[in-house]
Amino acid sequence: MNLIFLGAPGSGKGTQAEFVSEKKSIPPISTGNMLREAVKNGTPAGLAAKEYMDRGDLVPDETVIGILKERIAKDDAQNGFILDGFPRTVEQAKALEDMGVNIDLAVEIYVPDERICARMGGRRVCDACGASYHLEYKPTAVEGKCDACEGNAVQRVDDKPETVLSRLKTYHEKTAPLRDFYSERGKLKTVEGQEEIADTTRLTFEAIGC
Ligand code: AMP
Repeated sequence: MNLIFLGAPGSGKGTQAEFVSEKKSIPPISTGNMLREAVKNGTPAGLAAKEYMDRGDLVPDETVIGILKERIAKDDAQNGFILDGFPRTVEQAKALEDMGVNIDLAVEIYVPDERICARMGGRRVCDACGASYHLEYKPTAVEGKCDACEGNAVQRVDDKPETVLSRLKTYHEKTAPLRDFYSERGKLKTVEGQEEIADTTRLTFEAIGC
C-alpha cells in the first residue's frame, strides 16, 4: 500500500504517518527528515537545501525528487510506504506518476491555521532519529530526550513563529492544490485533526481502513 499524507506544517501528519507505519509495517518516508539529515551531514543535497529550509521555502524539486527516488528504490519500500511531506507541489506529484508509482490514497490531515500557529511552539523533534513530539500533546518520557533513541528532542529552527507563517503561506500556495489533484483521481480522504492525538489516529485508521 502506497500512502501520502498531506497537511499543513504542524498538522500532525508526521505523527499519524508514524502510527500508520507501525500498524501496516511499511516505512514512513519524510523528505523533511531526510533533508535535515542531509544538512547535518553536509552532503551536496544538504548544502543545496539549507538556505531554503531556514527561510521556510520549498527546496527545489530537482533536489527533493532525487532524494525521494533513491529512498523508494530501497528494499524496505518495496511492499509499500507512507510519504510524509512529499509531494509538496503538483510538479512533484506528476514526477511520482512519471516514476510509475501508484498511490492508493492521499490522506489530508486538516487543521485550521489558527490552531497550527498555537501548536507549533510546543513541537519538538529528535535531532538523531527524527521522531516527533509535542510538549503538551506528546511529551517525551524524560524531558528533552527522545523515547526511541539517545537523541535530544529539540525545537526545529524553522518552527520559529515568523518562519511558521511563511511555511503556511507556501503550503496554501503550492501544496494545497494537491487536494484537487488527488481528489480528481478519486484518491483523497480528509481527516479533521482533533485536539487529542489518539482521536486523530482513530479517524486516520478509519479513513485508511486499517
Ligand atoms: P517538513 O519536515 O516536512 O516540514 O519539511 C521541512 C522543510 O524541508 C520544508 O519547509 C522545506 O523547506 C523542505 N522540504 C521537505 N519536503 C519537501 C518537499 N517535498 N519539497 C520541497 N521542500 C521540502
